[in-house]
Amino acid sequence: MTEPRPATALDHIPTLVAQTRQSFVSGRTKPISWRLAQLRGIEALIVERRRELSVALAADLGKSETEAYLTELSIVRHEAQLAQRQLRRWLRPKPVGVGLALTPARAWTMLEPLGTVLIIGPWNYPVQLVLAPLVGAVAAGNAAVVKPSELAPATSALLAKLLPNYLDADAVTVVEGGADETQALLAERWDHIFYTGGSRVARIIARSAAEHLTPITLELGGKSPAFVDGSGDLDTVARRLVWAKFTNAGQTCIAPDYVLATKDAVPRLERALTAAITELYGPDPMRSPDFARIVNRRHFDRLTAFLGGGRTVAGGTSDPDALRIAPTVLGDVNPASPVMAEEIFGPILPIVPVADAREAIAFINARPKPLALYTFTAHRRVERAFERGTSSGSLVHGFAIAQASIAELPFGGVGESGMGAYHGEASVRVFSHEKSVATKPLRPDTLKVAYPPYSRAQQKL
Ligand code: NAD
Repeated sequence: MTEPRPATALDHIPTLVAQTRQSFVSGRTKPISWRLAQLRGIEALIVERRRELSVALAADLGKSETEAYLTELSIVRHEAQLAQRQLRRWLRPKPVGVGLALTPARAWTMLEPLGTVLIIGPWNYPVQLVLAPLVGAVAAGNAAVVKPSELAPATSALLAKLLPNYLDADAVTVVEGGADETQALLAERWDHIFYTGGSRVARIIARSAAEHLTPITLELGGKSPAFVDGSGDLDTVARRLVWAKFTNAGQTCIAPDYVLATKDAVPRLERALTAAITELYGPDPMRSPDFARIVNRRHFDRLTAFLGGGRTVAGGTSDPDALRIAPTVLGDVNPASPVMAEEIFGPILPIVPVADAREAIAFINARPKPLALYTFTAHRRVERAFERGTSSGSLVHGFAIAQASIAELPFGGVGESGMGAYHGEASVRVFSHEKSVATKPLRPDTLKVAYPPYSRAQQKL
């Protein structure tokens, strides 16, 4: 399954970055008309090239066309549409009070583009996680270089081919390739770097950014827990968990990584999860056209090593030729086992029994802050206990992963799961500098109350 990896020539990268930067310096990315034209271009790319994009996503990850639409294309489309509708409102200057001592005067903040930004994408949602940040970058008036993941080569090549046809090709450019090409990009000076991926590379990005004091957004991952206490309709809970976990074969940064279930709920939950897998993916899920495959052999081998990490409740089988692993549920998982030591990022759902919500909260707080945290309980007081007692990028009660489709809800991590957030208005803010502006007329010169020679009376100002 070794695909040719498309790559931009290393010695061309500095020239390309300089040309992109020149587009920003020329000032042409700043007018709202340019920004709206780019947003229309992204929307048109999604609408007109939906078929080709779906084919590329199927080639890279075995995604079904419907899943590709629901979890990638429609999200980008809605982001681009929302930004077109709201951009003028988001960009409106915000007045602030100046206080009596400085009156007469006015002060406000205004958003200005940062400049030339770099967007580095991962392979798991290779369209959404390149184009959704790009919506924010162009809406904020920046020039941008995007670097799709080399591990989704069909999508990378397609984006490199299509983007110049739909956007201003001098101001939005594409670099293809992997570590070497990304290193070449990181050697350049940027006004912002927006990175989505794992925490190992995030540290490389942060170190390079420090050289130029470049601000960064890090959209990372980690183990996102789900808490289930058995109250409420467990069949629906199981369906929602199964859908959230096994979409894209579990290769989703906000997928529920593991379940903390109260001991009394475990047997019923195991039965409901097993039934839900059959309901959603049929009696032989590995043959389901709606179930994606693992991205490559390295990840397949990493994941199959986890299969013995607990009692097999469902699934447990794999096919190395097709790079498929059946939707798997593991019971009685020991918190010290390898499957609980790192982000799973695949279709394996461990269940760790806990006594109650309090023990679940202590378990979560003893580990790095998750990107997402899910609760499934009928008790509002339990939900509140999680709201007050834990820290995570997002906290969602009663469902999972679909919070990413709420365009007005900022999406991002905290601590080990990342820094900065985007989607909707937050996307424009992350790619903007909020500039403080103040003005005061020269006459009358009321500021002279602050000038020397000083007197005691001035200490009362
Ligand atoms: P990764 O860290 O392997 O790669 C991400 C990007 O970094 C790719 O574009 C890659 O080419 C580049 N890269 C790889 N090695 C590099 C190096 N040595 N130097 C410079 N650049 C390099 O990440 P991944 O495997 O593509 O993604 C998986 C991780 O991303 C998971 O942890 C997941 O949770 C996280 N993720 C987070 C989000 C989010 O929105 N927060 C979304 C998707 C994935």
